[in-house]
Amino acid sequence: MYDTVIRNGLVVTHDSTIEADIAIKNGKILSIGARGSLKEGKTELNATGKVIMPGLIDPHVHIKHPFKDTFSQDDFYTATIAAARGGTTTVIDFAIQWDKKLNLAETVALRKKQADGQVVIDYALHVCPTKSSMDTAKELPKIVELGIPSFKLYMIYRKQGRMTDDGIIFRALEEVKNDGIVGVHAENSAIAEFSEEDYLNRGLSSPAAFPMVKPNIVEAEAINRVLYLNKCAQGNLYIFHLSTAEGLEMVAEARGKGQSVTAETCTHYLVLTEDYYKRSDGANFICSPPLRSYDDVDALWKGVANGTIDVIGSDHCGFGKEQKALGNGDFSKTPNGLPGIELRLPVIYTEGVLKKRISINRMVEALSTNPAKIFGLYPKKGAILPGSDADLAIVDLNEEREIITSNLSGSVDWSPYEGMHLRGFAETVISRGEIIVNNGVFKGKRGRGKFLERKL
Ligand SMILES: [Zn+2]
Repeated sequence: MYDTVIRNGLVVTHDSTIEADIAIKNGKILSIGARGSLKEGKTELNATGKVIMPGLIDPHVHIKHPFKDTFSQDDFYTATIAAARGGTTTVIDFAIQWDKKLNLAETVALRKKQADGQVVIDYALHVCPTKSSMDTAKELPKIVELGIPSFKLYMIYRKQGRMTDDGIIFRALEEVKNDGIVGVHAENSAIAEFSEEDYLNRGLSSPAAFPMVKPNIVEAEAINRVLYLNKCAQGNLYIFHLSTAEGLEMVAEARGKGQSVTAETCTHYLVLTEDYYKRSDGANFICSPPLRSYDDVDALWKGVANGTIDVIGSDHCGFGKEQKALGNGDFSKTPNGLPGIELRLPVIYTEGVLKKRISINRMVEALSTNPAKIFGLYPKKGAILPGSDADLAIVDLNEEREIITSNLSGSVDWSPYEGMHLRGFAETVISRGEIIVNNGVFKGKRGRGKFLERKL
């Protein structure tokens, strides 16, 4: 007897849309059969009128992210509940080397200590070195051996001590090119610093100035440079949160010439624009790279549609309204980042699929399958195949809801998508065979999520 059978749903994956039933046993998908062909399950779920997708994977989240003396508003428990309610069954967070006295392995251990026992869905980590040293370079292959083959290097935030220089980026690309992937936060630090100083000296510190402080060239130059480094290193590169038409064009060109490069954009770059910085709550929308123009938004959607952009992550970073107000309206003192872990699916479904910018299969590919493939989780995750983990989202595509922050999971006290009318909400979410969201209500246990060792 099966543990669970899901019947009468429409199964949507990155490459097919079929009427099928799904049988689950011992946390895995055991078989996928024609409607009515599978035997009974202890639990029977009726998905009539619903769509079943592989559980979504969010490869870019910052949970409990520090800013000055505080942390972003949500923690590994509340943030992963929000993720689960949004149909996400795996998140990849970051082990950032904030304490430079710790090596990378110790940094990972510290981060795992914060997450383990708290997360309600499975998680993995990217490692972010902050020291441009030979020690760092030498440690990278050891981190790959620990089951963490993905890295993120900041090309910006020199003053904050997070930037890594071109030397270590080039070296990292070489070190892990056969069994790892090097991601970058691509912004030119020097140009952004000069520009920031210039604006602040002229008394222009309001959020409205922020996108001008970091215009498209800040990202595009860094992408251009890192693509050249990757070409010479013959490495494996991932561009986190690509936001500009210029950057997109460079990625397409490099890939056309055979470079191994993949690109991610984030929910907010596909929906929100720099006009938000002119609003009275403009400071809330400070994030890096900044929100861009309508032309960039259009270009990014085309990039998602044609496959130049592989992944849509959330870059979730849940600073609350009070924390955002810490900058007193000065963009340079406002914590960066937007909450978005819960609404990636309805925003992308409504703005992308319903507006006919992308197909539903392409959406599943960008939200689940590609992150799994790129980061070494496929086909355990990101797939509906016999043997895959039974991580599934049963989604109602018809019901429309207005986004009201108080109806969300409550892990952060505001939403950039407040007031939008969206469709595509997960109704039931299954993680390793266990129903963790039932009718939109979270039912899972604190700490049930596991750390995922990965291999490329
Ligand atoms: Zn980020």
